Amino acid sequence: MAADVDVRGITKAYGDVLAVDGVDLTVPDGSFFTLLGPSGSGKTTTLRVIAGFERPDAGSVSLGGEDITFAPPYSRDVNTVFQDYALFPHMTVTENVGYGLRVKGVGRAERDAAVKDVLATVGLAEYGGRKPVQLSGGQRQRVALARSIVNRPKVLLLDEPLGALDLKLRQQMQTFLKSLQRDLGMTFVYVTHDQEEALTMSDQVAVFNNGKIEQIGTPKEIYERPRTEFVADFVGTTNLVERDGCRYSVRPERIEFAEAGEPGTIDDVIFVGAFTRYLVATDRGERLTVVSQNDGARLAPGARVYLGWGEDDAVPMIGSRQEQQEG
Ligand code: ADP
Ligand code: MG
Repeated sequence: MAADVDVRGITKAYGDVLAVDGVDLTVPDGSFFTLLGPSGSGKTTTLRVIAGFERPDAGSVSLGGEDITFAPPYSRDVNTVFQDYALFPHMTVTENVGYGLRVKGVGRAERDAAVKDVLATVGLAEYGGRKPVQLSGGQRQRVALARSIVNRPKVLLLDEPLGALDLKLRQQMQTFLKSLQRDLGMTFVYVTHDQEEALTMSDQVAVFNNGKIEQIGTPKEIYERPRTEFVADFVGTTNLVERDGCRYSVRPERIEFAEAGEPGTIDDVIFVGAFTRYLVATDRGERLTVVSQNDGARLAPGARVYLGWGEDDAVPMIGSRQEQQEG
């Protein structure tokens, strides 16, 4: 049976803090599924419920159709990688990676073969004999990763695994993790508060706010068709405009300087290399961000302009009047 992870109606409170409030999600087998949201929005708690480290107050978790809500963590075909991965300092890389297998009583020859194989997978074939202190941060994180996939779990849970790495290394590891997931065909449930990371790596993203999921979709859906102001604002940059009593999100790159349209004045021009960001004060009193590819056109602060966007580029926000009428 396909190893879909199915989370239904999960609720979890700590005292009077409702950490997770009725979360539903389905992670398809073999997919890269990201829980995205600001700090404190309930991502880690959801992941810990899937891992079995927390018992939900209500709701259920199943894996491949089997209810595992109250199964102990070690009996689930699931491993977890944390940001502050703890390697045993006195053990070599090979010993660290093989530790879990040794505890399970896997024999030496089989263990060594599995460790060798997985170290090659994470690009550390030559590093088996080193101790953790002899490795860089990125290499240590790959050892932690190797340790968590050596027993081939169906599902890998990753809680902000790259949070401690600097930008360059983080980007390398993003590419690496994504191709690893694809090559192994493993299911990844990935937690991050970094919207760019979520968009570039995921098959699907669930956007968390205040213990609830506001939207689940592909990166393209989340970015191009955000359903709520929170999603529109948290994922990328947007303009929230009001027209005829309805609120809309319009992405900065969807707004064009036109012959006619919304009149305004350029307030600020920010050169960003491949593109330029303009802040425009419209005559009706909005302040809109417009992003244009650098095509040599020069607009200076104070210039009068007209802004235009397509009907489809204005995405109605849930809760605003028109949406309620439609619904
Ligand atoms: P995230 O991972 O999105 O930052 P968490 O799931 O860690 O969010 O936390 C959600 C909310 O639950 C936060 O308000 C957090 O303070 C609270 N919380 C999480 N774990 C505990 C705990 N063990 N005890 C008390 N409150 C907790
Ligand atoms: Mg967290």
